[in-house]
Amino acid sequence: MMAAYLDCNATTPLAPGVLDAMLPYFDEAFFNSSSAAAAILLNDDPVRGARIEAAKLLGSRDFAEDITLTSGASEANSWVMSAFARPGVHVVLSRMEHPSLVRAARHAERSGAVVSWIGSDSDGVVSAEGLLDALRPETALVSVMLANNETGVIQPVRDLARAVRERCGALFHTDATQMVGRLPVDLMDDLAEVDLVSFSAHKFHGPKGIGALFARPGIALPPIVHGEQEGGRRGGTYNTPAAAGLAEAARVSSSRITAAAELIRGRRNGLETALLGLHAGWRVNGARAPRLPNTISLTMPGVDADDLVDRLAQAGVCISTGSACSSGAEAASATLVAMGLSEADARSTIRISLSAYTTDDELAFFEERFRASMADMGGIVL
Ligand code: PMP
Repeated sequence: MMAAYLDCNATTPLAPGVLDAMLPYFDEAFFNSSSAAAAILLNDDPVRGARIEAAKLLGSRDFAEDITLTSGASEANSWVMSAFARPGVHVVLSRMEHPSLVRAARHAERSGAVVSWIGSDSDGVVSAEGLLDALRPETALVSVMLANNETGVIQPVRDLARAVRERCGALFHTDATQMVGRLPVDLMDDLAEVDLVSFSAHKFHGPKGIGALFARPGIALPPIVHGEQEGGRRGGTYNTPAAAGLAEAARVSSSRITAAAELIRGRRNGLETALLGLHAGWRVNGARAPRLPNTISLTMPGVDADDLVDRLAQAGVCISTGSACSSGAEAASATLVAMGLSEADARSTIRISLSAYTTDDELAFFEERFRASMADMGGIVL
C-alpha cells in the first residue's frame, strides 16, 4: 500500500483526464493511424495533437512539425548522441547528465568520438567559462541538461548555448525532461539558441513510454528507426494511446503551469524547512542555485540513505536516493560528487520530489514515518 508518493522526479501519476483520453485508442479507435481508413474514421489525429500540445509546452504550436515522438527521453538522448557524436568528432557533456546520455557518450567514446566532461560548482551549476574552456574549433555537439533529476538545479542554458554559438558551430542539446511541463520554457526565449531538446510525458503526468525530440528545422537528423512514420525519421506504427495521453497531459500542464509550480514550491519549502530544522548538520544540495520548485536533495551525513529509503518504502512512503535510474548502482551519484560531496555524503543523500497532486496528508505521513524510521535506525534521535 502506498500512502505517500514523493518520488515525482522518477515518475508522476497520470493527471485527471489522461487515462480517459487514451482509452478510446485501445478500443473503438484502435486503427493504425497511418492507414487511409483512420484518416476518414477518426475525428482527430492523436499523433498530430500530441506534437501540437508538446510544441505549445515548448513555447509555440509553430514548432509542432519539428517534434518527433519517441519512446521517451532516453531514446531522444541516445538518438542525439548516435546522430552527432560520430567517430572522430569532439563533444562536450556535463558530468551531471542522465545515464541515457552518459552511457551513449561512453559508447561514442569507444567508437572513436572524443568526449570532454565538464563539472559544476558546489551549487551544481555549470559555468559558461568551464564550458568555453572545453570547446574546440571542431566541437560538434554540446549537451547540458536543463534541470537536474537529483537536485533540481536549473542550468543557465540560455547563457551556455549563447556562449557556444558565439564560439563555434557546435549543436547545443538540452535534456529538458525534468523541466518541460513543470516550468515554462520557450524555444523563442530561454531556449532560443538551443538546437535539440529531449523530454518525456511521464514527468508531467502523462503516460510512460512516450516522449519526444525537438530538432530545429534544417538540422540533418538521421533516422533512429527506418520506416515511413515521423517523416522517415522514426518508423514504426504510431503509439496512438500514448500520443493521446501525452497530448492531454500537456494540455493540463499548460493550463496551470505557473500556478502549479507556485503551489508545489510552497509545499516543498515548508517540508524543506521542517527537515532542516531536525538536525543542524543536514543540508540541501543546490539550495543557493535556481531550482525546480518540487525537489529536495537532502544530505544527512552518517545516515545510510539506502536503508532509510527501504524502511520508508516498507511503511508505504516512496522517496529515492539519487535518481531512480541509478538506484542500486555501485557508484555514488555523479551529480553530487561533481558538486564536491564526498562519496560517503552522496550515499547519505535522499531525494524527495513533489507534484501538484501531492497532498498535505501525504507530507504529514511522510514526516511521521521519516522520524520513526530514523529512530528505528538508531543513529540520530529526532
Ligand atoms: N533525462 C532525465 C533528466 C530524466 O530524469 C529521465 C527519467 N529518469 C530521463 C532522461 C529518461 O526519460 P524516459 O524515462 O522517458 O526514458
